[in-house]
Amino acid sequence: MTSANERIKAVRARYGKRLAILGHHYQNDAIIRHTDFQGDSLELARKIGGLEAEHVVFCGVYFMAESAVALARPGQKIHIPHADATCPMADMAPAQRLEDVLTELREQGRLVIPLAYVNSSAEVKAICGLYGGSVCTSANAKVMLDWALQQGDAVLFLPDKHLGNNTANLLNISSSERLQVDIRPGRQVVDPKKAAYARLLLWPGSCVIHHAIKKQHVEEMRKAMPGVRIVVHPECAPAVVRAADSAGSTSHIIRYCAEAKPGAKIAIGTEVNLVLRLAERHKAEGKIIVPLKTMRCTNMAKTTEERLADLLDTLDSATPLSLPADVAEHAQVALTRMLDICS
Ligand code: SF4
Repeated sequence: MTSANERIKAVRARYGKRLAILGHHYQNDAIIRHTDFQGDSLELARKIGGLEAEHVVFCGVYFMAESAVALARPGQKIHIPHADATCPMADMAPAQRLEDVLTELREQGRLVIPLAYVNSSAEVKAICGLYGGSVCTSANAKVMLDWALQQGDAVLFLPDKHLGNNTANLLNISSSERLQVDIRPGRQVVDPKKAAYARLLLWPGSCVIHHAIKKQHVEEMRKAMPGVRIVVHPECAPAVVRAADSAGSTSHIIRYCAEAKPGAKIAIGTEVNLVLRLAERHKAEGKIIVPLKTMRCTNMAKTTEERLADLLDTLDSATPLSLPADVAEHAQVALTRMLDICS
């Protein structure tokens, strides 16, 4: 029986430049070896517009492929190997709830600008585009939050409260200027008296993978591995970011490991696939790279080599991902704003 690896190679040879495969850093090596480009959300979003390929297969989670649809050029077909590979954090911000919350906040008389982390649905991004807001990634959250703060009276940052708080810390936004919104149906979103002073309103979402990494893991790692440097993703809680030596996007983490001296010991607080890849990449330089806590994103793991091979075998007849025209249009506005601001 032909292996998934061989099937993928055969399809790639047949399609040539008509096919491009993109993979997020959290994908496992069996997938990454088949990709033309690897990157974080921002890097992959930037790639879409410049790709010649007619078929673009996005190995990641659903919201990433949706963003690719919004940024694709006419005639380009975006595919995802596993449509159930969703992001639980993105699911914590349903579009209808966002509209309700924004309406209630604006009825209180303040111009609230929505800023969504890219880990959100296309509908949520479209609402951000419509309401004068935009989106951000962990790599540009500081620039984008700074921009959004200048567009209105306050910013509603969603869905990741940890990224919102960590970014607010970088911008010296005091805790008295921040307020977490209550998104439970039937509840008042915020107390209007408190909201009058808030510059940053935070949606109460978080990534289950990064939220599980605690300050205690940083402390235990320092005891177990004297001299270790600790770098974490800003989806971790602020207490973890404060206890670490460095924090930043997956690209930052990759650079951190590359720039470390030979023999360095590094513990990383993010999804384990990236950590293991970096450990392997820098083994020959004597760098010891370990996970701060082993956390695997089961949704990222839904894209297996077999799934990818099955999709590629039927690529011509596969239904590409699509978005309602108005959602695609307004999501594109939000995404393009980010790409222009961060160009
Ligand atoms: S690692 Fe977290 S944010 Fe990324 S896809 Fe998985 S659940 Fe979503």
